[in-house]
Amino acid sequence: MKKTLFITLNILFFMMTSCTKKSETYFESMNTFMKVQAYGEKAKEANAAAQKYIGELEKLISVTKPESEIYKLNNSKTFPVKIKVEALDLIKTALDMAEKSDGAFNPCLYPVSSAWGFTKKQYRIPPAQEIAEKLLLCDWKKVRIEASDVYMEPGMAFDLGGIGKGFAGDEAAKKMREFGIKSALLDLGGNIQLIGKKPDGSDWTIGIKNPFDKNSSVGTLKANDVAIITSAGYERYFEGPDGHKYIHIFDGTTGCPVENDLVSTTAIAKSGTYCDGLSTTLYVLGLEKSIAFWKRNPNFDFIIITKDRQIYITKKIAKKFTMNGDLNGFAVSVVK
Ligand code: ADP
Ligand code: MG
Repeated sequence: MKKTLFITLNILFFMMTSCTKKSETYFESMNTFMKVQAYGEKAKEANAAAQKYIGELEKLISVTKPESEIYKLNNSKTFPVKIKVEALDLIKTALDMAEKSDGAFNPCLYPVSSAWGFTKKQYRIPPAQEIAEKLLLCDWKKVRIEASDVYMEPGMAFDLGGIGKGFAGDEAAKKMREFGIKSALLDLGGNIQLIGKKPDGSDWTIGIKNPFDKNSSVGTLKANDVAIITSAGYERYFEGPDGHKYIHIFDGTTGCPVENDLVSTTAIAKSGTYCDGLSTTLYVLGLEKSIAFWKRNPNFDFIIITKDRQIYITKKIAKKFTMNGDLNGFAVSVVK
């Protein structure tokens, strides 16, 4: 009797999951490839809405598109500048992240990063004098917001690249939920946003890239209903005439690309926006300060990989992480 019931339930479950419509959408936005995979009656419509939303958001926050809110703000000679609500919300969140991280996360580093040529891919090492001058324009504490008016000094400029894709993930997921989607995976250029679990009720399995070999992973993490967002030195960098690698994440105290003991930082929490801000923050902080930051703000998890192939993982998710068996010289430490 029990066995029949078991088989019937299994068949019923199989019918339910196999009836779940799946839709996959691929597109390019925010200078990266994106893939949205959703399950549900309206999966196709939900994916289309997500893609449309991300495209609209890019138009609002791009630093290079003249019609964007950020471009308008960055290129204004007079202040205040009125900013549309979505872009304004993100500016506020970015400034909040700057406050929380004591400036390790600094959304106003555009004068510096563009001097190094990161926006136009015309890479150069600026002279020390130029870096010092540009740094004076990167003080996020000088930004003031009143209703939808943003005040800052001429020459100052926002760059929301450290938080934008996470925000896009949050908001796109919100739109998809409006279509009744209870199961989806959004991969926004390697930044993962999960809605619920897989349609069969199990966790999603997410690969954590091997920073030393882009085509493999250091391991996999089982997760559901969270964002998993990585910042990595291997993503975007240039090699100077000195043979040195200069990465796209900047240290706001020196005006130079970050150089520390890390190769990648992954943040895991419900909010994609927070995770994206955090992943950049952790990268800037380096290992020791990142652990101290987490101890003060334990409302997220992380996987940090160092140059000497140590994988540091917070205790709550340690059991859900499986290291790739082929890896030589890597070791995992649980952070408590
Ligand atoms: P991506 O996923 O695009 O690599 P990250 O989350 O790793 O983005 O953030 C890197 C981006 O953040 C840079 O390309 C730049 O736009 C911006 N950025 C660089 N340094 C900082 C910093 N110290 N604080 C905030 N944003 C930064
Ligand atoms: Mg980030």
